[in-house]
Amino acid sequence: MNRRACLKFLAAAAAAPLGAEQASVEARIVQLKLRQTWTTTMSSSDYRDTIHVHYARDGVTGRGEGAPIARYHEDAQGARKAIESILPLLESSDPWRFTRLLREVFDRIPGHYAAKAAIDIALMDWVGQKLGVPLYRYFGLDPAEAPVTTFSIGIDTPEITRRKVREAEPYPILKIKVGLDTDEETIDAVRGETGKPLRVDANEGWKTKEEALEKIRWLESQGVEFIEQPLPAAMFEETRWLRGKVNIPVIADEAVLKASDIPKLAEAYDGINVKLDKCGGMLEAHRMIEMAKALGLKTMLGCMISSSVSITAAAHLSPLVDYADLDGNLLISNDPYSGVRVEKGKLVLPSRPGLGLIPS
Ligand code: MG
Repeated sequence: MNRRACLKFLAAAAAAPLGAEQASVEARIVQLKLRQTWTTTMSSSDYRDTIHVHYARDGVTGRGEGAPIARYHEDAQGARKAIESILPLLESSDPWRFTRLLREVFDRIPGHYAAKAAIDIALMDWVGQKLGVPLYRYFGLDPAEAPVTTFSIGIDTPEITRRKVREAEPYPILKIKVGLDTDEETIDAVRGETGKPLRVDANEGWKTKEEALEKIRWLESQGVEFIEQPLPAAMFEETRWLRGKVNIPVIADEAVLKASDIPKLAEAYDGINVKLDKCGGMLEAHRMIEMAKALGLKTMLGCMISSSVSITAAAHLSPLVDYADLDGNLLISNDPYSGVRVEKGKLVLPSRPGLGLIPS
């Protein structure tokens, strides 16, 4: 046994009562291939790496996933290292005391919310499977109340935008990415193909409150239901000014990371976009949704580009929210699992225990 293995063994032995069962935990990076090059104001790419966790114990394997977000300086290699740094804790702790275990995970890993999400989701999948209930039932939710999901159209040329809108025919609500000089061309291209309700995400792309006001006033005339993150997250006062002048809800995304951010944000936004990858998993997402609702805010579940592991986890919480944007798995061509399905835009939750995933 080398020194590193020896230290790992000693740490595990110290953390586990003698004779207690151990879990086997594996973290690996999965490269997801995009069906189309994906462009927002932040990046353009043909594939994405996400971090996957397998948590195996007592004959049951829980699966989790997190998509590292570049804006928060996360990447998949760093996520894997963060998980590997606490393997003895994960392997030796009692998964039934997952609240305490996840609190310790959050205390021990600074940042790395994708890694935390992958751990949280894997544990919740394991717990749901052991209890023999789908996770929506664990949270006391009615799958019939799962909302319609939007289908996202990334920034592109007008011709490609028109083609993407035609291909999105099965989806009754579209989410359009804007935030560049080409916004009007983009919306004109969409409106040349469809009269469907639109939800618009500027991803912090507009740089002054006056520019944002002008764009939103025009979007209001184009049948847009809400605007997500019109200004940079740091422009809190400008966003409060803007909200007082527009008629559609202003939703925070990049400005909201965790439950404790929400009371302050309620002064400048009408709602929040909760993402498991951003907040660190299902338990924090649940807390955020409940806190936002208590403050009278609109709630939305969003996602990054991910496989069905992460999207299905978010979907199990979706009966709680006003809006869902859970299409990350529809944008990839090599999904390793199937889970939540979309029928005429509506999320259909699997009724199998845990997440209810089936390997592809
Ligand atoms: Mg967004």
